[in-house]
Amino acid sequence: MFSLHIDTDRWRAQLDRVATPGLVPVIKGNGYGFGREVLCAEATRLGADLVAVGTYAEVPGALATFTGDVMVLTPWRPFLTDLHAADPALDARVVHTVGRVDDIVELAARAPGARIVLEGETSMSRHGLDRHELAAAVAALGDLVVEGFAIHLPLTRHDQGGNPAEAQRWAGALLASQLETTTLFVSHLTGAEIAALAESRPQLTVRPRVGTSLWLGDLSALSARAQVLDRHTVARGERVGYRQRAIPRDGTVLVVAGGTSHGVGLEAPRAGAGLMQRGKTFAKGGLEAAGLSLSPFSVAGKQRWFIEPPHMQVSLVFLPDDVPAPDVGAQLDVAVRFTTTTFDEIIWD
Ligand SMILES: *Cc1c(COP(=O)(O)O)cnc(C)c1O
Repeated sequence: MFSLHIDTDRWRAQLDRVATPGLVPVIKGNGYGFGREVLCAEATRLGADLVAVGTYAEVPGALATFTGDVMVLTPWRPFLTDLHAADPALDARVVHTVGRVDDIVELAARAPGARIVLEGETSMSRHGLDRHELAAAVAALGDLVVEGFAIHLPLTRHDQGGNPAEAQRWAGALLASQLETTTLFVSHLTGAEIAALAESRPQLTVRPRVGTSLWLGDLSALSARAQVLDRHTVARGERVGYRQRAIPRDGTVLVVAGGTSHGVGLEAPRAGAGLMQRGKTFAKGGLEAAGLSLSPFSVAGKQRWFIEPPHMQVSLVFLPDDVPAPDVGAQLDVAVRFTTTTFDEIIWD
């Protein structure tokens, strides 16, 4: 098994700290490693009235597992969803994002009464209306119900004032516009920046949309573990695996749960391996010089080497003969990137 162990009390304490009133939990993609269903249940426990999913494909699952409203972060496009096929009762809980005047016209014609947020085009240059299009957007609204205005800001920036200054400019533009909403949804402002924005714009309700720093805000509450499924003693020069590569030294081949289908890649996350350690590894030559790649699987506190690229569901890892081999069934620590990992199971500790 390739498992995610959660220290439940610690993880939930972190969620409770971040989940201020108005927070919109973001639940998209692989559900940040937890799966979207688990996060929908947590959002309910946190008392959220609204969650944000990434795409229209993620809407039905969220509506089924979360009782509140569901915002779609990908802006609506005429080709992305068939609104006529939707159940009107469920549809009433969906909040669409729109970021082009043409799309507003089209959505207003197809689904009068639909709930929307308008998105502004920030320095992300991903989606959204240009500030000068706001008047045209308002004119195109028809019977759409505007729930708020949304901005999505970059994670790092180099310009003066950065995200807070840009958020301030959009707050000003929203207040100056004819839009009948005072809710501003923001992505990627810090807690302190949100508090400052809210304080300086008391006319607005600022609602942060947060994924990573909510679900993955305390990594010490999470550990990924992979089971040893088999092990074989091998001698230097012996050929193993799909690629029949020669083993560089005497040791053990470990067959470990966790492969490409779980998101285990050839390039292991280096979080655990500092520059020093890498330097030492390099100085020793040996396995890296033998053309092996560092795996994310640790034995005796060190990440070990892949024998060959990970398979669909298992990986072959080499252990030199001076390291005692773990038993079949033992659990190894794994360094993972949670946003690209799919676990077989979650263990609530
Ligand atoms: C993904 C996403 C978020 C959440 O991002 P995190 O970095 O995971 O908090 C917020 N807003 C938008 C528009 C997004 O697409």
